[in-house]
Amino acid sequence: MHRQGLASRTKSTTQTKQKKPISTKTKTTIKTAPKKSQKQNSPFTSQLRLQSNEKPFRPITPLPSGHTQGPWLWRGRDVVMPDGSKWHQPNSGAPMIRVEERERNFDPQDMEVLDKMGSYEDLDHAKQTYALDAEPREAMDFDVLIVGGGPAGLSAAIQLKKLAKQSEKEISVCLIEKGSEIGAHILSGNVFQPNYLNELIPDWKTRPNNPLKTKVSADSFFFLTETSALPAPIPPTLDNHDNYIISLGALCKFLGEEAESLGVEIYPGFAASEVLYSDNGAVTGIATPDVGINKKGEKTDGYARGVELKAKQTLFGEGARGSCSEEIIGRFNLRQPGQFQTYGIGIKEVWELDPQKHKEGSVYHTIGWPTPHDVYSGSFMYHAENNLAYMGLVIGLDYKNPYLNPYQELQKWKTHPMISDMLEGGKPVGYGARALTEGGYQSVPKLHFPGGALIGCSAGFMNVPKIKGSHNAMKSGMTAAEGIFERWAKNEFNIDSLQDIDVDEYGKKMEKSPVMQELYEARNIRPAFNLGLLPFLAIAGLETMVTRGKLPFTLSHHSVPDANTTEPAHLHKPIDYPKPDGKLTFSLLDNLTRSNVMHDDDQPSHLTYRHGKHFKQDQVSYEVFGAPESRFCPAGVYEYIPDPEGPKPTSKKLQINAQNCVHCKTCDIKTPNEFIKWTIPIGTGGQGPNYNNM
Ligand SMILES: Cc1cc2nc3c(=O)[nH]c(=O)nc-3n(C[C@H](O)[C@H](O)[C@H](O)COP(=O)(O)OP(=O)(O)OC[C@H]3O[C@@H](n4cnc5c(N)ncnc54)[C@H](O)[C@@H]3O)c2cc1C
Ligand code: SF4
Repeated sequence: MHRQGLASRTKSTTQTKQKKPISTKTKTTIKTAPKKSQKQNSPFTSQLRLQSNEKPFRPITPLPSGHTQGPWLWRGRDVVMPDGSKWHQPNSGAPMIRVEERERNFDPQDMEVLDKMGSYEDLDHAKQTYALDAEPREAMDFDVLIVGGGPAGLSAAIQLKKLAKQSEKEISVCLIEKGSEIGAHILSGNVFQPNYLNELIPDWKTRPNNPLKTKVSADSFFFLTETSALPAPIPPTLDNHDNYIISLGALCKFLGEEAESLGVEIYPGFAASEVLYSDNGAVTGIATPDVGINKKGEKTDGYARGVELKAKQTLFGEGARGSCSEEIIGRFNLRQPGQFQTYGIGIKEVWELDPQKHKEGSVYHTIGWPTPHDVYSGSFMYHAENNLAYMGLVIGLDYKNPYLNPYQELQKWKTHPMISDMLEGGKPVGYGARALTEGGYQSVPKLHFPGGALIGCSAGFMNVPKIKGSHNAMKSGMTAAEGIFERWAKNEFNIDSLQDIDVDEYGKKMEKSPVMQELYEARNIRPAFNLGLLPFLAIAGLETMVTRGKLPFTLSHHSVPDANTTEPAHLHKPIDYPKPDGKLTFSLLDNLTRSNVMHDDDQPSHLTYRHGKHFKQDQVSYEVFGAPESRFCPAGVYEYIPDPEGPKPTSKKLQINAQNCVHCKTCDIKTPNEFIKWTIPIGTGGQGPNYNNM
């Protein structure tokens, strides 16, 4: 397929159809700091002996529940867990199944189809999809392919082109973005630290399309109780002198224009739904999803097979919990045993304020009310240009109480006298949500693998005490570009020499970079919260004001991923949230209309069951955990509705309103046992939210 072909598809898929959201009703441990040499040790220092034909390899995610700790032994497509149970790994990213169950249930002739499709529920459907999947795809080749048009991906693209230009070399760079346009899926605060933008585009201030308009003029920090706001000293991490209040979406548009002017081919409305591998296991690119498949998995008139985009190096800049990135982290065993990412959910509203109440350049941060004291959380309110205020609440996803409702917590926060006074006379104009990484230094995986690398929050460079990640995302993208360029130059600019290569120059540069230095200094603050409020305040105060990361230990995060910190519902009491008043507080579905979310109705759900439907994970979630997904999803996607065919008159079943999804990825992280797997929507491109300068 020629490039014009992809460009013409882009045009047809960037048109935004808007639909109304739907609903049927409306034990922390202290560890000494690891020595550098220990950090890179192979995770397979196993007592289990490998035979000569076996290789140690982490199974492709998702792992069956209870098997997150290695070592694993890999025998063909079967994996032997440390407890001796044998599991079968079908196609990449598909759920694993116990070997004995697979052999008992299925005719060997159907195994190939089932392995490929990873579906053990509906053989006919799997066969149909398999037949579609077997059709050939057109392919396009690039030197470097970048997945994701966020600050990380765009900075990588710009830096590659700049370096090539300086050396008078040619390199083809393609960037794809799943949003309908660059910025459409970007949601952030955002107070922006421009240090790496200064490096990337030194004359940004004089550009006519410069989106950094509002310099921070005042910082404030409050501890809220229900009725009062107690001013607190501003921690050095939240000193925003020289920073800007921006829409990160607008900055991405600016970076996109810069990248395009340097010759980067940018294709919004195109998502990477599948990672492509060579016979020797290296990443060779991605494939975009098929379009024109209806809910039943059948071809419609609009059917077109996806496209393969191949490259010598593929950079994944998908942001927090990227779907391809997570597959790669599992496949290449990029995390050490027991190491995982921790997350938060950020819910944001944009308001147009009464000009009398608007103080351009003012930054407010609060902690405390209304969120319970054992929940890691904080709010922000940034007064940008044009009377706009960006506000939101970030809640750590390691919370225990399944009745907590992050959306309702934000609504309640707005009723605090200090906040409601600012909002009086204003009106809401935007809404959205996105997960963010909180694991910091302890959670950064190995960054590179044969054929590519992880950049930005796909790896997780968010500095949590600073509430900033965009500058580090940019720097990681730029550093990946420099690593690729350095290897290319070493090989006398023979571009083919980059094929299938593990560019460790990137990893080495990042280890020494100021990005890792700032994450190292902040490493103890987020996990200290798990020790209780007072130890947290003591350690956070000491580390930020005095020791600056020099404490002689490194605290670890929870010993389980966020999905498993939720406690059974019977240990908690439901939380009573006030009804919306329609002026200051809104129903979720009212607010959702402000995210301009759009998905084709007649397409297979992109929210799938990770371990297969027959494991009844939704019933466990409902009966044991009180259905936390029906509260934490900021788009009302998960509803438990009466099930007339259920065993009891009160039985409920899960209805997934996938059309409402704003792609925040929280369900992929926080559903009990991670039973929901977020995947790229099949269908026309550009689905999901259409944020306007979030
Ligand atoms: C509520 C909130 C407040 C924040 N406040 C601040 C702040 O004040 N200051 C700050 O510096 N940082 C802040 N951050 C963090 C900051 O937003 C992130 O660190 C930053 O956006 C990470 O950049 P990225 O390029 O890695 O990923 P992202 O910005 O998430 O961009 C990833 C892009 O890739 C696209 N994509 C994903 N998967 C695919 C795929 N498979 N195919 C094609 N495209 C794909 C997405 O649509 C998206 O456009 C905040 C984050 C949140 C959620
Ligand atoms: S369905 Fe999942 S990814 Fe979509 S909005 Fe809800 S929690 Fe976020």
